[in-house]
Order: sequence, then structure tokens, then C-alpha cells
Amino acid sequence: MSTNTSAARVAVVTGGSRGIGRAIALALARQGWDVCISYASNAAAADETVKAVQQAGRQALAVQADMASHADIQRLFAACRKTFGRLDALVNNAGVVGGLRSIFDADPAHLREVFDANVLGCFLCAGEAAKAMSTQKGGQGGAIVNMSSVAARTGGMPQEAHYAASKGAVDSLTLALTRELAPHGIRVNAVRPGLIDTSIHEAHGGQATLDKLAPTVPLARVGTVDEVAEVVAFLCGPQSSYMHGALVDVSGGR
Ligand code: NAP
Repeated sequence: MSTNTSAARVAVVTGGSRGIGRAIALALARQGWDVCISYASNAAAADETVKAVQQAGRQALAVQADMASHADIQRLFAACRKTFGRLDALVNNAGVVGGLRSIFDADPAHLREVFDANVLGCFLCAGEAAKAMSTQKGGQGGAIVNMSSVAARTGGMPQEAHYAASKGAVDSLTLALTRELAPHGIRVNAVRPGLIDTSIHEAHGGQATLDKLAPTVPLARVGTVDEVAEVVAFLCGPQSSYMHGALVDVSGGR
């Protein structure tokens, strides 16, 4: 049963505790959404995001949920249902780079870790969200936004085939779900950021890597988390009602 007294729309944002996910949670809150964010282990960052959403005047809930765990993901959506009583959008944002690893050193455990975080979690969250939002199952329809990367089409940085390939899978999943979920009133799109200033780049050189690559971007700079978040919030809401199956680059022309 809903404990939500407002008629606000509700979004689940995976990996909403830090970086791009936090900015998405805040962009949605500014547009009147309540948000349920998930995180892997950094509870303090998640708490900060919850407080920031509340300061923006909306309700927020943080749930620890490993994207590799179906049980965790089911618990995430159950907690969202219990607190808010509805779901209108899923942002499949959680992800990792997985560091640098040459194909000559391909390792099953490393590949599973990257694909669990970047791909498996997207599949399982999309499944839970579809059950909650499907107009054929008592839901009100909604939107799914998958966080891909320009690496899906460029191949990404050297020694990051694992990352590029995982984001290619996110693009394919997005296109596949447009067909399966349209009859359920659910729109599905993906956003493909380029170089965005977050701590994810600590996995491959941090600020030095960003400084080195910024001049290679046609707009000649790194992007901000807000520049990605505004596009994601647009794709979640009714103003993008005829967008379905779009892979939207937010990359400064890269
Ligand atoms: P970030 O700052 O490192 O934040 C990652 C978020 O994902 C955190 O909330 C983290 O939780 C969560 N997370 C990581 N692994 C997880 C797992 N196994 N299970 C559950 N949650 C997990 O990353 P970001 O730069 O904001 O990236 C967000 C998304 O955008 C990712 O999918 C990334 O691939 C994509 N992207 C980023 C860039 C870029 O330049 N930054 C470019 C293209 C695409 P904790 O806080 O608990 O660790």
C-alpha cells in the first residue's frame, strides 16, 4: 500500500548516490519527482543525495542493492513500492569502467564483474520496472532510460573493450525493449555520455586522463553531470512522449 501522500511521479535511479546518478536524482526532484536511489556500498554518499532531494522539496529513499544480485534488485523495487506505491520511470544508471585490461589478459572474473554491473543489472531492473509499470498488469505505463556510453559506438579507450562491449549490450537491450514494452505503455531510450567529470575516471588515470582527452572533444571540454542529467530527466517525462528507441549522445560532438 502506498505511504505516499502526494501524486508525484516516482523514479528509481540505480547508482543514484554519486556522479551522474546523483545529478539525475536532483534534476528529477527539481521537476517534481520523488526518487528511490540505489547504491553499491557508499552509504554516506547515498545519504547526502537523499538529503539534497529532500532539500529540493521531494521525497527520497536510498536502498543498498548490488546490480549483480537479483535478490537485491527485487528488494530495491519492493522498497520503492512500499514507500511510494507507484513507479513511473527507471533510470538504469549504475555502472563501472572496470579499469584497464588488455584482451591478452582477458579474465572471466573481471568480465563478469563489469557485465554484472553494466548489463545484468539493467536487464533485471528493467524486468522489475516493467512489472510495476505495465499497463497490461495494472500499472500506468512509464519510461526506462538506460545509461550507455559513446564507447558503445567508438569502441572506447584502449584496453577497455570490456567496457565498450558492455555498453554496446546496453544499446541493443534498449532497442530490443522498445518492441517488447511498447504494448505495455513503456517507452525505452538510452543516453550515451562522452567524457563527463566524475570519479569513475579514477579507474583509468583520473583527472590526468580527462585533461589529456578534453582537447579531442569537438566542444573542447569535458561535460558536467548536470548536462547529462537534464537529458535523462527529459526522457523520463511526458515532454519526450514520442521518443522511443533513441540512443541520445551527450558527448560534446565526440
Ligand atoms: P560514478 O560516479 O562512479 O558512480 C557510479 C554509481 O554506480 C555509484 O552510485 C555506485 O554506487 C553505483 N554502482 C557501481 N557499481 C555498482 C554495482 N555493482 N551495483 C550497484 N551500484 C553500483 O559513475 P558515473 O560517472 O556517474 O557513471 C554513471 C553511469 O554513466 C555509468 O553507467 C557509466 O558507465 C556511465 N557513463 C559515464 C561516463 C563518464 O564520463 N562519467 C561516460 C559515459 C557513460 P556506490 O556509490 O555505492 O559506489
